[in-house]
Amino acid sequence: MFKTYGYAVQSADAPFAPFAFDRRDTGAHDVRIDILYCGVCHSDLHTARGEWAGTVYPNVPGHEIVGRVTEVGSEVTKFKVGALVGVGCLVDSCRTCPSCQEGLEQYCEGPGGFVGTYNAPDKHTGGVTYGGYSKSIVVDEAFTLRVPENLDLAAVAPLLCAGITTYSPLRHWNVRAGQKVGIVGLGGLGHMGVKLAAAFGAHVVLFTTSASKVEDAKRLGAHEVVISKDPQQMAKHANSFDFILNTVAASHNLDQFTALLKRDGTLTLVGVPEHAHPSPDVANLIFKRRKLAGSLIGGIAETQEMLDFCGKHGITSDIEMIRMDEIDKAYERMVKSDVKYRFVIDMATLDI
Ligand code: NAP
Ligand code: ZN
Ligand code: ZN
Repeated sequence: MFKTYGYAVQSADAPFAPFAFDRRDTGAHDVRIDILYCGVCHSDLHTARGEWAGTVYPNVPGHEIVGRVTEVGSEVTKFKVGALVGVGCLVDSCRTCPSCQEGLEQYCEGPGGFVGTYNAPDKHTGGVTYGGYSKSIVVDEAFTLRVPENLDLAAVAPLLCAGITTYSPLRHWNVRAGQKVGIVGLGGLGHMGVKLAAAFGAHVVLFTTSASKVEDAKRLGAHEVVISKDPQQMAKHANSFDFILNTVAASHNLDQFTALLKRDGTLTLVGVPEHAHPSPDVANLIFKRRKLAGSLIGGIAETQEMLDFCGKHGITSDIEMIRMDEIDKAYERMVKSDVKYRFVIDMATLDI
């Protein structure tokens, strides 16, 4: 074990504060990483504030990590000291179940499922995993990603969750040129969804509750923007979408979006709000054989594919860099949908 430090919350309503803790020593298959940047996901907020069941305190969030390798274990083959690497939402899984064998570690069927980067039982320390709001982390090379060298590193960090969580469903539902695709919510996930769906050649329509985001949405790649609170604007798009990806972090009526799908269209949810959505109208689904679906982040191979795709196409997140001690303020702004479009912590500002 070695000592490191980060920022933690000690309870659901406590502010962040410096926190010293132990990381495991670099094992044979591990890389030790100095964290340069960490993105701020709405899941961090849900977890830190206990909005989902099961937060273990102290909690150190952060699963959009970019850093530099400072030490490699004796069996490591993928990385050398000095390599730029990323770590996303997963740091381990059972590796033997059918989902793991298919490279879908996020759906691991082993005991306890995948090992999350934070707030998951840590077999090495006996405690819970601590995430990227910290100076360094030790991760198995099998769960460590190569980062394209040509991209702005701070703006790459959000790809590790916001990027893969939108890339994976767009790929799974085969979004392509000639399709009309909706993205709901222009936050961290939504703005990556717009960029990626546009890169895949689809006609992209962004749904937002914030009139102030219309111009940005177009700059980011949306061909049309709809204010979802305006029933007239919504009605114009009835029965016209092949696919809609809903990234909203709060409970809301889903029928307004299922009604926009064509026959056989799919509405895929990735937002995990604290309170359940109202039950959807089944007739709305039945009479047009529409589908309501969900999707969870992405596996390691697909995350690497997404990073390589972003490297090739020059795609990164639009970010606002913050200091570590500005994290509580950033959360307050995230609750108000005031993020353009991902906060990223400059870990050089973490000092205790
Ligand atoms: P975010 O940056 O806060 O963006 C969420 C966006 O949703 C907001 O910017 C806002 O966009 C819209 N919104 C917020 N409140 C709303 C409301 N009451 N009604 C309608 N729209 C509202 O959050 P994020 O980091 O993108 O995460 C989004 C959700 O996905 C969170 O619940 C997060 O936990 C979840 N998530 C899931 C996965 C997965 O694997 N499935 C992975 C990562 C995150 P507008 O201003 O444009 O309306
Ligand atoms: Zn996330
Ligand atoms: Zn598994």
